[in-house]
Amino acid sequence: MAEISKDVVIIGAGPAGLGAALYSARDRFDTVVLDKFVPGGQINLTDRIENYPAIGQISGPDMIDAMVKQVTSFDAEIKNNSEVETIIRRDDGLLEVHTDEEVYLAKVIILTPGSEYRKLGVEGEEKFRQAGAGVSYCGTCDAPFFRDKHVISIGGGNVAVEDTLHLAKFCKKVTMVHRRQEFRATPILVEELIEEAKKGIIEIRYDSVVTSINGSNKVESATLQNVKTQDSEILDCDGVFIFVGMNPNTKFLNGIVDLDESGFIQCDPRYLRTSVPGIFVAGDCRVGAAMQLVTAIADGVVAALSLKEYLRDPGWWRS
Ligand code: NAP
Repeated sequence: MAEISKDVVIIGAGPAGLGAALYSARDRFDTVVLDKFVPGGQINLTDRIENYPAIGQISGPDMIDAMVKQVTSFDAEIKNNSEVETIIRRDDGLLEVHTDEEVYLAKVIILTPGSEYRKLGVEGEEKFRQAGAGVSYCGTCDAPFFRDKHVISIGGGNVAVEDTLHLAKFCKKVTMVHRRQEFRATPILVEELIEEAKKGIIEIRYDSVVTSINGSNKVESATLQNVKTQDSEILDCDGVFIFVGMNPNTKFLNGIVDLDESGFIQCDPRYLRTSVPGIFVAGDCRVGAAMQLVTAIADGVVAALSLKEYLRDPGWWRS
């Protein structure tokens, strides 16, 4: 297979990858963005974005369309259906990126493969996931759409507790469902949750799971089961927020860069350098990501600015 030389290869065409490509291509670096499918990632599933500064409201796909047009107008190339299989760092410092059909030879790689919300795998979850039908994985993004409604939140980690507290600022009731008695979340957050629950908006159901999400066109109820007694109950609600963790899309890296125990890519937070010289990371797949559209794009920009330091002086990597 012939090698295609590029200054910058970006792996993943979500907001972080496109943000990186905009800055890299506009700085006249020969840039390609490879995506397993088509540009967008998680944000393609978002019906309404209203927390992107200066844009009142936009859908995820429209936002991505606009970003792709802008990025390609600066001559960045975007390659769809291009799944990366292997990355090799050569002795001369150049990086080989092997896809199923091509080999790229890059001076710099920016890893932006994103992450995916862990699924519950219950009936109704997929059906109501799209277009404001009532299943959500992001309290920060979607809480305002459930003003004065009753929602169910699921999970017992930091995200579940923080987002349940956030939901309580908008909803008339939040029933929090956790599969055991002890929370995985940090004690200070749990204390805050318990205090807040005394005010009556949050109700915690311990030792319970959601076994199905029900409705015709949108969420109307959820079926809860107590894991100790096996008793089931149908609870009317307008939405179900699932906070059971994230899976970063980093398996394909096969240990080339250091990951944390959950598979997120380790990096220094200032320049977004990974453990391998020439490989940067940006967006939801990295340790410490804020998991927001605006911060993913900002991450891409940081990586694209940092790469100039590395190309000027590779010794900078260890500084
Ligand atoms: P997490 O810590 O892995 O918690 C996931 C929660 O979902 C756990 O309570 C788990 O229950 C529950 N769960 C998993 N699968 C489930 C299922 N099938 N059915 C029902 N419940 C299920 O994930 P996270 O809350 O998304 O946090 C991700 C990482 O970010 C963590 O390392 C977290 O500490 C960090 N974070 C930190 C902060 C902070 O420091 N302020 C804020 C946000 C996130 P079990 O406990 O029973 O396993």
